[in-house]
Amino acid sequence: MIISMKLHSTREEIEQVCERIRDFGYKIHAIEGEERVVIGAVGMGDVTACLESIEAMAQVEKAVRISVPYKFVSKEYKSTRTRVRVNGFEIGGEEFIVMAGPCSVESEKQIMQAAEGVARSGARMLRGGAFKPRTSPYDFQGMEAEGLKLLAKARQATGLAIVTEVMSDSDVDLVAEYADVLQIGARNMQNFALLKALGRTSRPILLKRGMSSTVKELLMSAEYVIAHGNPNVILCERGIRTFETVTRNTCDIAAIAALNELTHLPIVLDPSHATGKRSLVPALARAGIAIGADGLIVEVHPQPEKAVSDGAQSLDLAQFDRMMQQLKPYIELWKEARVTEATVAV
Ligand code: PEP
Ligand code: MN
Repeated sequence: MIISMKLHSTREEIEQVCERIRDFGYKIHAIEGEERVVIGAVGMGDVTACLESIEAMAQVEKAVRISVPYKFVSKEYKSTRTRVRVNGFEIGGEEFIVMAGPCSVESEKQIMQAAEGVARSGARMLRGGAFKPRTSPYDFQGMEAEGLKLLAKARQATGLAIVTEVMSDSDVDLVAEYADVLQIGARNMQNFALLKALGRTSRPILLKRGMSSTVKELLMSAEYVIAHGNPNVILCERGIRTFETVTRNTCDIAAIAALNELTHLPIVLDPSHATGKRSLVPALARAGIAIGADGLIVEVHPQPEKAVSDGAQSLDLAQFDRMMQQLKPYIELWKEARVTEATVAV
């Protein structure tokens, strides 16, 4: 249930509405807006009686029922796009944001070369895992705290914002100290203890879709983070498991269009994990732009043949630069579409 208060309602009037909602046994989960206060209330059971009672209050402009199980992430709750602010730019706004870098942070030299290279080609953010979720316990597990420090060094050298994975709720504070955006990997999309802990951090979250998760489950995971207090969530399509073996995963490209209908949250595409093959990355990146993603997260390594993880899907710096050049006309069309959308919405 979402309740919009009349303009310039007083604190007391807002509190009266909250009281009434609590009396009906529902929980207040968010109060938003500077000019107009919007109250979000959630709970079990039929809300009809509560809705009617609230709507009859003089200070209430409108009270609406949200029919979907994911409330705060839904378009019913908020029809305009959410812009997530990161270090002076926005994801979900008028700029198409490219995040790029290696799968794993491996050494100072590697991350610096990667950062300088991707920055030169137009990336806004540097990706790189310091905590790595690996299928085998014998594979490289990441440089951990040392890797985070190298990422911070690369940010200082290039001005790129940092996105890096956090795998456990006990590491959230540590990773948040160094990263600008916290990445939640596919394997952790439904780690509910972690999602709850992310609600308590002020850093934006990049939530990757689980490889066996539906779009609805992705939205429910985002709902966890928002319901626990952090509204800055960016979704990521990275391919799902199917019977197909030509690509590492099957990119559910239509999910991006579907998500744009269902949610106000920004969505980025990961063409690297979605394909597993560097030769396919540029084509999928174009598709992501055309279908209305807000950005890309791409694996780039100065020497992919020497990468400790995901070398086969990593572009080298020259290939990344070429792709960024080739994407320019597509990004121009994307911008035109965004401007038209904003004008139509006014
Ligand atoms: C990654 O980004 O390197 C990664 C492990 O991705 P995913 O969680 O999508 O598999
Ligand atoms: Mn990877």
